Amino acid sequence: MNIKDRLIRFMQGRYGADEYVRFLNGTGFVSLLIALVFTIISSGLAASHPAGSIVFRVLYFVFYIFGIGLMVYCMFRMFSRNTDKRHAENTRFLYKKNTIQRKWRNLADRWKNRKIYHYLKCPKCRQSLRVPKHKGKIRITCSKCGEQFIIQS
Ligand SMILES: [Zn+2]
Repeated sequence: MNIKDRLIRFMQGRYGADEYVRFLNGTGFVSLLIALVFTIISSGLAASHPAGSIVFRVLYFVFYIFGIGLMVYCMFRMFSRNTDKRHAENTRFLYKKNTIQRKWRNLADRWKNRKIYHYLKCPKCRQSLRVPKHKGKIRITCSKCGEQFIIQS
């Protein structure tokens, strides 16, 4: 049996990679890169600033352990036979990722349109509202609760 067949047999019934694993793996990799930078700084400071050197040595250690921990956790997830649980974790991750992406996109839109729109909250129900700028005095009707108020746009 060659290596590929063995690997296929080994992975049978196991979970494998998903988007959550890719995210954790990427974060672990970045963390190890940061650790590498800290250890270089630490050795650079060893002669001139021993105390500073120790601080960066500790930072190195923290990021190193964190990075390795994430990598080990990725292995655990990929080789796990509890695929239902791993699948549920991935779904939760994707949901959170979506929420954060949506928030960022909203912020980006607001920044892009900041000259054409006011972004305000309904005084009654706190619903976010978008109102055109430079239209003089206008009456706003909340799209959610129907509350009416007047602003200088
Ligand atoms: Zn309202």
